[in-house]
Amino acid sequence: MKPHADAFPARVGPDSLSALSATVPAGDDRPGIEVEAPYSGAPIGEIPACSRADVDAAVERARDAQPSWADRSAAERAEVVSRFHDLVLDRRDELLDVIQLESAKARIDAFEEVADVASTARHYADRAPEYLASERRKGAFPLMTRTVEHRRPVGVVGVVSPWNYPLTLAVSDAIPALLAGNAVVLKPASETPFAALSIRDLLRTAGVPEAAFEVVTGTGSEAGGALVDAVDYVCFTGSTETGRAVARRAGENLVDCSLELGGKNPLLVLGDADLDAAAAGAVRGCFANAGQLCLSMERLYVHRDVRDPFLDRFVRRTRALDLAAGYDWTPDVGSLVGSDQLEKVEAHVDDAVEKGADVVTGGRARPDIGPYFYEPTVLTGVTEEMALAREETFGPVVAVTAVDSADEAIERANDSEYGLNASVWTEDAERGRRLARRIDCGTVNVNDAYAAAWASTDAPMGGMKDSGLGRRHGRQGLLRYTESQTVAEQRAGSLHPPEGVPKGWYAKGMTLALRAMARLPGVR
Ligand code: NAD
Repeated sequence: MKPHADAFPARVGPDSLSALSATVPAGDDRPGIEVEAPYSGAPIGEIPACSRADVDAAVERARDAQPSWADRSAAERAEVVSRFHDLVLDRRDELLDVIQLESAKARIDAFEEVADVASTARHYADRAPEYLASERRKGAFPLMTRTVEHRRPVGVVGVVSPWNYPLTLAVSDAIPALLAGNAVVLKPASETPFAALSIRDLLRTAGVPEAAFEVVTGTGSEAGGALVDAVDYVCFTGSTETGRAVARRAGENLVDCSLELGGKNPLLVLGDADLDAAAAGAVRGCFANAGQLCLSMERLYVHRDVRDPFLDRFVRRTRALDLAAGYDWTPDVGSLVGSDQLEKVEAHVDDAVEKGADVVTGGRARPDIGPYFYEPTVLTGVTEEMALAREETFGPVVAVTAVDSADEAIERANDSEYGLNASVWTEDAERGRRLARRIDCGTVNVNDAYAAAWASTDAPMGGMKDSGLGRRHGRQGLLRYTESQTVAEQRAGSLHPPEGVPKGWYAKGMTLALRAMARLPGVR
């Protein structure tokens, strides 16, 4: 199909996309996959549907390239990532154009991705040498054994990423993997491959060896499945359903994996909250990226005493959002990514309305703006039998429910199969932090919806319950891509019975020594 020329922003055209597509390492005898611009629904290009053999070959090349990359010191690899950080900021506008073109998000939401990639690169470039440093450990008895824990790269890491944050989720998890001395092969979502291909080029320009970071494109079942089968570690971000399938395969192959999955995130407005701040935070938390954010809020529990004034403020701000298409900074909320997403959002809202929920604002698709636009929507009267009460909608739809106490809010927040992100609003920050500890989510934000915890790159981030396994960010986010190796040198004596000493005497002596050790905490 002929690309629709009007669909392109200033800095990206059909030629630059075909040039990116041509660099995907694929046999060219199979039909490609068409990519569309969701703003208009127009086709913008095609990407190869990599076969299992294509993926295996990319992983083999990565395997060959990995040892010499790992031979560089952590500080040298960090220098490469620091250069990458600068390039990302230098090429900001072009990256924003690519992200917007293939995802149709508002420019401010695309900017969150660029900022996130830069700050993740900076964090890990600064800290990787320390995270990877070998560490002395204690032996069984003081002075007898010299024990050191080393960290070795796992080899080739496979990253499988979704369409909602096509830049961040393609590369932010790859940065610590590369810094740990691994090669990376990435399979981006087939809706949004061009941000991944663009960022691959920036990594290579910064100095990552070509085969040490490769992008394969194609379907989840074929290219994604082949990648999971070929690598030494799988970093998967996507739906809980696919995450389970990936975990099964990784388990079968006996390779480790981290799974960043779905959420049905609660936001709690306590009776003493600053209602203007809470309403502004809830708008950002519910409608950033048109609600297609794993961390976004879909359940609001508001203390009954402040429910009406809060709802009034929240709805007023929601109605004021500028829902529009455009490559400038004006729109507040962009489009959904495609027809499947629109159908799911419509089905959830229609089902809720049929079963008695009230639409306070929104509740309609907006084909007049673009084929997949949907209005930011606030519902009340949502009950258990409605699909959106428990299932992830992944769109700009939120249910507001009154509760009688903070305890009830927490109980309802925890009554979910998911446990990704939560938010608590209160003027009493100490109380907020205390209540946060009782919420079963991997991240909890006090007086913010999601950015505070997400952007704390030094601290782990991930899901409890069906929201995932493992953590990104922080020390854990890098060490997951390593194997620990313990090297212990016996410097004096032996832990075994010495020759000629009766075994009973040995056991008696050891027992005395163990008792003495328990009484000498400084020595233990
Ligand atoms: P998805 O699970 O459909 O696809 C994610 C990726 O997996 C895509 O690249 C896809 O091609 C690939 N894939 C599909 N089947 C596969 C298979 N059998 N083997 C290997 N790979 C396969 O998810 P999506 O619709 O692209 O993304 C939306 C979901 O992602 C939402 O549920 C959202 O909550 C979740 N998400 C989670 C986080 C997080 O950090 N927890 C972040 C973003 C999105």
